[in-house]
Amino acid sequence: MAKQNPIILSTWNFGLQANQAGWSVLKEGGAALDAVEAAASVTENDPSITSVGYGGYPNEDGVIQLDAAVIDGKTGRMGSVAALEGIRNPCAVARKVLEKNKHIYLVGEGAQNFALKEGFQLENLNTPQSAQWYAEQLKKRSADQGHDTIGVLARDEEGELATACTTSGLAMKWAGRVGDSPIIGAGLYLDGKIGGAVGTGVGERAIEVCASFAIVEFMRNGMSPQNACEELLRRVVNRHRGRIDFQLAFIALNREGRFGGAALQEGFEYAVYAGDENALRPGAVYGRDFQ
Ligand code: ASP
Repeated sequence: MAKQNPIILSTWNFGLQANQAGWSVLKEGGAALDAVEAAASVTENDPSITSVGYGGYPNEDGVIQLDAAVIDGKTGRMGSVAALEGIRNPCAVARKVLEKNKHIYLVGEGAQNFALKEGFQLENLNTPQSAQWYAEQLKKRSADQGHDTIGVLARDEEGELATACTTSGLAMKWAGRVGDSPIIGAGLYLDGKIGGAVGTGVGERAIEVCASFAIVEFMRNGMSPQNACEELLRRVVNRHRGRIDFQLAFIALNREGRFGGAALQEGFEYAVYAGDENALRPGAVYGRDFQ
């Protein structure tokens, strides 16, 4: 088959650095799965990004519990970990689950034991900044509702697709709360023959509509990635009878390399790198750019 142009896209402005790492894999002819994992690990390792990995947002007990998942379009395999403590790269652990190809989801202590057996190091994921942030939240009556997941989609030069998603989840979440990010079909979904989608925002609102799965099904039925993201958000708005006091945003990529992104609220952007320029794009906003 003729070589395809690789492409990688990632949520939020920190997606620019993530894309850079993913692109260095793709430009050497590497696999989309390796690219999305490399991209996600950059964000996970960066303590200045307070919503993912090391230095992420603590839960209500002051503990950082991480959620992550990966899907490989080439093999159709998936791996996911949720409420994982003490391991800074949950996406790489999810990748190991994918490779073992026996189970798809591992949670909590079982996920941690699996990671340790696979050679991951246990560490305290709280940084002085995250500990201080937590101490401040305890003094307040209501917590800052911090969030921002990194979701990555890539196509490699073989035309194969992959996606990854990794987050510390909603700030001050209940211990044991699992968001959309590790849930196949909610926070991310990908069918190697069609395309993929990945989201960010209030996970409960994505879980209740099987959001990423729906976006991929819209693409299967002929919608562009952009229209598919918008159609899903319309569905969310209808479900909430037009009352949208939360953020939810998605990006999507199809097998042809077309992509799109949309959000319920202002402020969502995503980074796209297809070889020429690694650039931020604003997501289309509900009520302003589409209805
Ligand atoms: N979707 C994530 C969650 O609900 C949070 C986020 O995207 O910021 O856990």
